[in-house]
Amino acid sequence: MIVLKFGGSSVKNSNMIKRSLEIVKGVLDREPVMVSSAMGSVTDKLQEIAYTAGKGNSETAENIFNSITNLHLTAAEELLQGENLSHCRDSLLAILKELGSIIKGLVLLREWTPRSNDAVLSFGERLSTTLLYYRALDEGVNAEYIDAREIVKTDDSFSSARLLEKESYGKIKKTVRPSKGRLIITQGFIASTLNGITTTLGRGGSDYTATIVGAALGADEVQIWTDVNGIMTCDPRLVNKAKTLKEISYKEAQELAYFGARVIHPATIQPAIEKNIPVVVKNTQNPKAAGTRIISSETGKGVKAIAFKKGITVINVISSRMLLAFGFLKKIFEIFEKYKTSVDLISTSEVSVSITVDNTFSIKNITEELSLIGSVSVEEKNTIVSLVGLGVWKRPETLSLVFNALKTIPIRMVSLGSSDINLSFVVPDKRADETVLLLHNVFFSEDLENK
Ligand code: ASP
Repeated sequence: MIVLKFGGSSVKNSNMIKRSLEIVKGVLDREPVMVSSAMGSVTDKLQEIAYTAGKGNSETAENIFNSITNLHLTAAEELLQGENLSHCRDSLLAILKELGSIIKGLVLLREWTPRSNDAVLSFGERLSTTLLYYRALDEGVNAEYIDAREIVKTDDSFSSARLLEKESYGKIKKTVRPSKGRLIITQGFIASTLNGITTTLGRGGSDYTATIVGAALGADEVQIWTDVNGIMTCDPRLVNKAKTLKEISYKEAQELAYFGARVIHPATIQPAIEKNIPVVVKNTQNPKAAGTRIISSETGKGVKAIAFKKGITVINVISSRMLLAFGFLKKIFEIFEKYKTSVDLISTSEVSVSITVDNTFSIKNITEELSLIGSVSVEEKNTIVSLVGLGVWKRPETLSLVFNALKTIPIRMVSLGSSDINLSFVVPDKRADETVLLLHNVFFSEDLENK
């Protein structure tokens, strides 16, 4: 069987919905499960609803609610006719009614919590998959709709809930029964706790749902359909000479995703690794293009791509008490753990530690507690730039090329990943674009390719 995940841009309007369904119809004999995101920017709009409703601003929340209603009802009219249209409209309206009631409740309670946020965000996927399901029926496809919340189970860390693998795999195997000629449609991103409270896997999490379903069912392949030709050497919006990679290893893809390449969600690869399932990233607008295959084996050495993550905060802790002491780092990391803040890069000297975080939700508490250990300074607005590829820094010439190219850039931190597939450094946000362009030029210009 095969899992095909379609991102928001692949279902953003009725034309794209038709296109995406064409793609799955072409693989009905491979027992497909279709996992879909919400239409286009619907999740962003829902995010605004959750926030504004929670702040008691019912008018803004209602306006956005109306625009979401129009978007889906218009698409239904463009996609369907007769009974399928009226059934689809009824289903959409029932879902929207539920959303409307939640919004009213949040306005009254002035509640904006990760839990209420997840409840609101889940509606985008529920609405888009309703359209897909009825359109598939309308085209005569033998389709089945499965609510992902019934099969993907998580803990209650709302807004980026953790998968309960055993429970989820069990439910998926029991409920999702792919077969030739039949199309199963379900939502990405949304899940629920064992008590049935709606959760989400974190923004962009539909990719992760796809590999979870794929791993549970032992898929032959997971396809991620998006709006670019695959994973590229860099973000093409910044580097117009960026090229598509034919193949990349799981580990490299994971590092790229984690350090800012937006094509796949960082958690996506783990379930694929466990079951050795190839993940192929393809372009819905250009389905003939081969895309990028993410596979278990090595795909050659050298820098494969450059990723970057802006808006990073660096926290420095300096303490002479650290000198020759033990247990010092433990104390520091316990504080991050306490505030559920994950750390990206670390560099240490005998008396100082620099740590980068992208989630600054608890930064005040963290710095207060850290200052009991040493003197703390915080630098905002930085970018992590990462060169990713197998054997990326063990060759001396790579490092000299990098530092030579970046002679004029103030580099704040450097981190060489122990697995030798990641060389990352921190530069100020305002020098980030320049840094990335300089490096892309060094590693991907015709004559220096694959340094
Ligand atoms: N719709 C969700 C988002 O925009 C999940 C996804 O598209 O993967 O983040």
